[in-house]
Amino acid sequence: MCTLTRITSASARLVVIPAATERTDAIQAFAAQETPFVEIATADGFVGRGYSYTIGTGGSAVMALLRDVMLPRLIGEDSRKIEHVWSMLRASTRSTTPGTLTALALAAVDIALWDISAQRSQQPLALAAGGHRTSTPVYDTEHGWLHIPTDELVDGMRSIADAGWTAGKVKVGKPTLAEDLERLTAVREAVGDDFTLMVDANQGFTRSEAMRRARAFEELGVAWLEEPLPADDVQGHAMLARQTSIPIAVGETLTTIGQCAEYLAGGAASVMQVDAARIGGITPWLKVAHLAEALNVSIAPHFLMELHVSLAAAVPAGTWVEHIPQLGAVTSGQVLLEHGRAHAPDFPGLGISWDLDKIEGLTVA
Ligand code: MG
Repeated sequence: MCTLTRITSASARLVVIPAATERTDAIQAFAAQETPFVEIATADGFVGRGYSYTIGTGGSAVMALLRDVMLPRLIGEDSRKIEHVWSMLRASTRSTTPGTLTALALAAVDIALWDISAQRSQQPLALAAGGHRTSTPVYDTEHGWLHIPTDELVDGMRSIADAGWTAGKVKVGKPTLAEDLERLTAVREAVGDDFTLMVDANQGFTRSEAMRRARAFEELGVAWLEEPLPADDVQGHAMLARQTSIPIAVGETLTTIGQCAEYLAGGAASVMQVDAARIGGITPWLKVAHLAEALNVSIAPHFLMELHVSLAAAVPAGTWVEHIPQLGAVTSGQVLLEHGRAHAPDFPGLGISWDLDKIEGLTVA
């Protein structure tokens, strides 16, 4: 083994980043992001940084898995052998795998190793992970939260359309279909037929209610219906996909490659929204992206705009990046957004300009 590439230290901290704005959907509110943040150093002087997130609970459990189980096992491992390290850590957490907490801990380590790999090869992540394109279209979610009154929702969507954005997403799942329809109809009238309009139910419907609302949304030219049903109802999503003309988007709540494969092979996902944190890192994310490509399904990763801008650009199946800026409080740079597109950073490594002083200031454990 090359001794220079071995891992010499690995540490983790929990950083709590406040949400930039109030965010609510059909099942939850997002006030602060718990961010397990991992730093890995190698004998030849590279320092990789990785992170994952929860939107409010469970961060301490992820930290315990990292500190008690995963990080000590990294010392002495070859930082280039990312697949080996990933499998070794997964094997070391069998009693909590598969599961979201383990996936979130794995992701923070895996992303730090990809950071090192990309730095070592002097490539930006978008190139290191595949290099398919340098930018992807971006859609806005930040103006479409469920609590926003209809007039503000319409103003917000009109403002982004006027600013050159081509797409936005509106949360659905109001108590009645009539309320959802009233909001969507008003938005459609404001932004015009050329604007790409997605809707997201955040797992809020039963099968029958999802079918009822999907039928009604069809008239509005909706580009996709996201998470209409609980994420473990694969059959329900497949049934819905067969019965509505609206593409079904899922993936943000899936935590294994196998779950994504089940959706893809079962015709239950027309858009796969695999999330690099919740799936366990960049390594499994890419496998899902390649599987989706093989089945001619597009990838529109959930959240994590600052990371996914590079991954969506890396793979042929990558399409939309979701605009929910969340790392402003801990970074010194922003994702470049221009003419409705998000540009992948072009400097070596992950492409996120961490501000370590700000991170220190928001560290809680
Ligand atoms: Mg969603």
